[in-house]
Amino acid sequence: MQTYTRLPVTFSRGEGVWLWDNHNNKYLDAIAGIAVCGLGHAHPAVTETICQQAKTLIHTSNLFQIEAQDRLANQLCALAEMDRAFFCNSGAEANEAAIKLARLYGHSNDILNPAIVVMEGSFHGRTLATLTASGNRKIQAGFEPLMQGFIRVPYNDIGAVKKVAQHNSDVVAILVEPVLGESGIIIPDRGYLQSLRSLCDDQGWLLMVDEIQTGLCRSGRWFAWQHEDTKPDVMTLAKSLGNGLPIGACLAQGKAAEVLQPGKHGSTFGGNPLACQVALTVIETMAKDKLAQRAADMGKYLLSQLDQTLSDIDGIVEIRGRGLLLAIELDRPCQPLSQVALDHGLVVNVTAEKIVRLLPPLILNRAEADQICQTLGAIIPPFLEQAAA
Ligand code: PLP
Repeated sequence: MQTYTRLPVTFSRGEGVWLWDNHNNKYLDAIAGIAVCGLGHAHPAVTETICQQAKTLIHTSNLFQIEAQDRLANQLCALAEMDRAFFCNSGAEANEAAIKLARLYGHSNDILNPAIVVMEGSFHGRTLATLTASGNRKIQAGFEPLMQGFIRVPYNDIGAVKKVAQHNSDVVAILVEPVLGESGIIIPDRGYLQSLRSLCDDQGWLLMVDEIQTGLCRSGRWFAWQHEDTKPDVMTLAKSLGNGLPIGACLAQGKAAEVLQPGKHGSTFGGNPLACQVALTVIETMAKDKLAQRAADMGKYLLSQLDQTLSDIDGIVEIRGRGLLLAIELDRPCQPLSQVALDHGLVVNVTAEKIVRLLPPLILNRAEADQICQTLGAIIPPFLEQAAA
């Protein structure tokens, strides 16, 4: 169905940060399948795990014990200081699990119409519950009636959440991205997440952090909440967990980890041996290659290079980033830049109309960062001049 306006290129092969199209043109992939291929394309360890596990056992269903799922749950819980994990196949499903968990938590506390505080500008997925939770009118339009039970406040505004606490006794949780991804890498003020944590503790709400875009080293830490040391009650992951193989996870700790009981949620495919074995390899490789530190260092480098190259140019509003989540905000719509970049052998993404978003593989090296910067330095100024004319 016509759910995407696609760019006219077909990639047929990849290796590391590189992609080749079906005419054998080479591109530097600075979007990594929208923050998915953190280890780059065709990573040998991932490929080897897929082949081995496919030869051994792909799927049995969750009616039975799954050894790789147990090991993955243990690994993720150890990394994220969580107690339990539920596995699914995408980010939206991981957030659905979190939303259901929050509602059950509310009912267990005799709140019959539990509400979740969500943020303007957020993105949590395309299912009915997650698009309702998302703070983007465009993705909701036409799908009314939307779901009940969400209260929206501006992002990065702790006062607005406190006001909700004063006037609404049905709130059970906050669902928040630690950095707004789809809205264009919007980084909240230092202390914001910590204030949300304190408010949740005071009110008995669950803090649920959507780490689907930011998680697993991309922000420069394993999880972006670690920048402020604000451990959530519930955390969702997907995207880079499988390096391209679909897998999502909803992790929980403390009282939140006890909420979902047998029969309350499920997935046929979720957490199958193939997906879990691949995710184990992804995590092991990220740890071995110290990719959190690398994302922090390379992110800093790329940000400074972009700043030097572009910040003085008329029409550039801001260049910002955290780890390898980077954004160049323009003062005007710049959708055509994705195609111009492709014509110059670079894959980028334009989000929120005016923002060039960079989410390169975490294995990016300096020479590749320089190439991203040089290409953007060559195409953005002429684009702005032309658009001004
Ligand atoms: N949450 C965040 C922060 C995301 O960036 C995305 C996807 O871009 C999702 C949820 C939805 O994930 P999926 O497309 O795997 O359902």
